[in-house]
Amino acid sequence: MITEQTLGNLHGMLPRSERMPLVFLGHGSPMNAIEDTEYSRAWSDLGRRLPHPEAILVVSAHWTTRGTTLVDVSALPKTIHDFGGFPAELFAQQYPAKGQPDLAREVVTLLSSHRAQEDDTWGLDHGAWTVLKFLYPNADVPVFQISIDMTRGLGYQLEIGRVLSELRNRGVLILGSGNVVHNLHALSPGGKPQDFALEFDSLFADRLTERNFTALSDQKSLGSLLQKAHPTVEHYLPALTIAGASDSRDELSFMTDSIDLGSVSMRSFVFHAN
Ligand code: ZN
Repeated sequence: MITEQTLGNLHGMLPRSERMPLVFLGHGSPMNAIEDTEYSRAWSDLGRRLPHPEAILVVSAHWTTRGTTLVDVSALPKTIHDFGGFPAELFAQQYPAKGQPDLAREVVTLLSSHRAQEDDTWGLDHGAWTVLKFLYPNADVPVFQISIDMTRGLGYQLEIGRVLSELRNRGVLILGSGNVVHNLHALSPGGKPQDFALEFDSLFADRLTERNFTALSDQKSLGSLLQKAHPTVEHYLPALTIAGASDSRDELSFMTDSIDLGSVSMRSFVFHAN
């Protein structure tokens, strides 16, 4: 329940601001963090066009929880190297942005009807820092993550987005990081995009453009195509959070709409506030 008191606290902390855009980035391979790729270049370009927010709230595919939505209240979130088999240069990467504990605690209150709780053990996983490094290379904007409750359905993340949308008026940029298609069992490096990947990616883009978020969260009607595109849905859910935080005034634009490695959509999108 969002109460007047919750919003009152939020208003006291961060003054009303220009409404912030919403960003969803398909992060793909962690190697994008240290390689000059079409994706890392696009993230840098986007970063130059984005406003300088008061804080960034990240929903990353790589922080999943069961039965709760955790909110990281760390003052100094650590850079998490949550992958294996990559070069030492990738493990040496640090993203030294500060956290925003006071605001993070307000987000726990905002999401109190979504079983939110404080956490100080997480930090910034690679879904967050591999893209933030290009969006805000100086790490001079406070950042904190919230987790994804995997015990709930697709519609739940849309709801979370709706609740979080209030933060957009308080100078907070909400960043989702996942992939619109993510099937690591069907990778074909150097090969053609898989048919199911192209099909789901284009269905997603069409429904998003129509603002038909109900269709995007209807697990039953998405059926076996969703199953192929996302054997597990954690990379899909951050896209729904971002969709849920949008409204009809926002202008939608897509970027890097290609399929990488045969079965990973790198499609990214921005809802620009009008
Ligand atoms: Zn990932």
